[in-house]
Amino acid sequence: MSTTFTTSSNITGHLIGGQTFQDSNNGYIEVISPLDGSILGKVPRGGADDISQAVSKAEAAFLEWGAQTVKERVQVLFRFKQLLENNIDEISDLVSQENGKTHAESKAEVAKGIEVTEFATSLPQIMQQETLEVSRGVYCEQKRFPLGVVAGITPFNFPAMVPLWMIPIALATGNTFILKPSEQVPLSANVLGDYLSQAGLPDGAFNVVHGGKEAVEAITDHPEIKAVGFVGSSKVAKIVYDRSTLKGKRALALGGAKNHLIVMPDADPEITASNVVASAYGCAGQRCMAASVLILVGKTDHILEHIIHEGQKIKAGENLGSVISKQAQERIESYINDAEKAGGNILLDGRNAVVPGKENGTYVNPTIIEGLAPTDKSACDEIFGPVLTVLRAETLDDALEIENASSYGNAAAIYTTNGGTARYFSDRASAGMIGVNIGVPVPREPFSFGGWNSSRFGYGDITGMDGVRFWTNLKKTTTKWNASAAKNWMS
Ligand code: NAD
Repeated sequence: MSTTFTTSSNITGHLIGGQTFQDSNNGYIEVISPLDGSILGKVPRGGADDISQAVSKAEAAFLEWGAQTVKERVQVLFRFKQLLENNIDEISDLVSQENGKTHAESKAEVAKGIEVTEFATSLPQIMQQETLEVSRGVYCEQKRFPLGVVAGITPFNFPAMVPLWMIPIALATGNTFILKPSEQVPLSANVLGDYLSQAGLPDGAFNVVHGGKEAVEAITDHPEIKAVGFVGSSKVAKIVYDRSTLKGKRALALGGAKNHLIVMPDADPEITASNVVASAYGCAGQRCMAASVLILVGKTDHILEHIIHEGQKIKAGENLGSVISKQAQERIESYINDAEKAGGNILLDGRNAVVPGKENGTYVNPTIIEGLAPTDKSACDEIFGPVLTVLRAETLDDALEIENASSYGNAAAIYTTNGGTARYFSDRASAGMIGVNIGVPVPREPFSFGGWNSSRFGYGDITGMDGVRFWTNLKKTTTKWNASAAKNWMS
C-alpha cells in the first residue's frame, strides 16, 4: 500500500508494514527548518514497542522477499530509481528544508543515492555464483544469502543519501530493512518509503521508525535484527558498534572526520583555491568528507591569498546553506572564539551571520583560522561547520606527520602538479579515501565508501561490493553426483 508523507495533523508517522503510525507513547519531536526556524512538522519519538512491531512486519515480509531471486528483487529498484529521478526536485526541496543545504547540494546528494541504487540494480550481473570442480567430479559452489531483518541508523547531514547507501544494497540482497533516520531530518525517510512502495516493494520490506537514543538502543538490543549499519559521530558510532556486537549482531559504524588537505608549492593556485573552498564550505562544512585542516607546505602564501579571495565569494543565504541548528551554530562559533583567545588569526570570520528575512535561520559564514599549533583543538576536533584551520609545514613528510597523528581517517587530499609527490602522499596518508587535486574524494560506485581509524568501527566499507558482503552470508556447497568419479582424499 502507498503511504503519504504529509498528514492533516502535520505528524509524519512511523512507516511500519506499509502503514503510517502517528501515535506515540513517548511524545513527539519537532522538525525545525534551519533555513528560517519554521516548524515543518513533528514525528513520534519511537521506542522498543515500535521497533518490535517493525521487526514483526519485516520478519513476515522477509519470508516472501528473501525467497525471490536477485533478478526479481532488482525490478523494484529499477522502478525506485526512476521515481527518484522523476521526483528529484521534490525530494531535494524537502532535503533542503529539513537540512538547510542549498537546492543544488540536495540534488547532488540525491544523485549519489541514485548511483548506489544503480549499483544495486546491477547485482544480477555481478553477483554470479562461483563454481569450481575442486576434485574430479566434485564441485564446490558459493552463494550469498540475505541475513533477514536488518537496520540502518543515519545522521542529519545527508537525509536522503546516507539512507540510500544502505537501503538498495540491503534490499537487493534479500533483506528486509528498518530505518531509524536522524530525528533532526526525519521527513525524507518517509518519502523514500513512499517511492519504494510505489515501486512495488511488498509492505513490511522497508520500515521507518522515528526517534532518538531509545529507538537506537531498541535496534541494537532486538534479538531478531541481524545487522546494524550506522553512520554518525564517532562517539555514537562506537556506542552503537559495541552494543550491537555485544548482542551478537554484525555491525558497521561509520564515524566522524577531520580531513586534511595538503597544498604543495607547485599546486595550481586557482584550481586549488576553488577546490579547497568547495570542499571546506560546501554543505556548510557539514560533510564527513569536508576539508577541515589545510596544511600549507613551503612557499604557498600566494595560494592562501587565492583561497581567502574565493572564500569571500561564499555567503550565507546566497550560495551557502545553514548549519543544522542553533546549538550547532553556537558550538561552531565557540570554536572560533576559543581559537581567537588561543592567539589564532581569524583570516575570514563567519561569526554572527544573519540572512535578511531569515533571522531565525542558523548560519555561519566561511571562516579561516591561522597561526595555531597542530595540537590546538581547532586543528584536532571535528568542528562540523564552515571552518578551515590553516597549519604550516616545511616538507611533505612534516605535513604527513600531522595528518597521520589525527585520530580520524576518513579522507585526505593533496594539491600538486607532480605525480610522484601525489603517489608518495596517497601511499602514506592514514585515511580511507584519498584525493589528488580533489577536495571531496567520494569514491563513485562501484568503488566503496568508508574511512579508517576512528572514522569507522567494524570491517569493510558501506557501499560497493563491501556493502554486498556486509548484508549477506556466504554459503559454500560441495557436491558429488557421479559415483564413478575418480577417488581422491575428498571423496
Ligand atoms: P550523531 O552521532 O549525533 O547521530 C547519528 C544517529 O545516532 C542519529 O540517528 C541519532 O538519533 C543517533 N544517536 C544520537 N545520539 C545517540 C546516543 N547517545 N545513543 C544512540 N543513538 C544516538 O550524528 P549527527 O550529528 O546526526 O551527524 C553528524 C556526524 O555524522 C558527524 O560526526 C559526521 O562526520 C558523521 N558522518 C559520518 C559519515 C561517514 O561516512 N563517516 C557520513 C555522514 C556523517
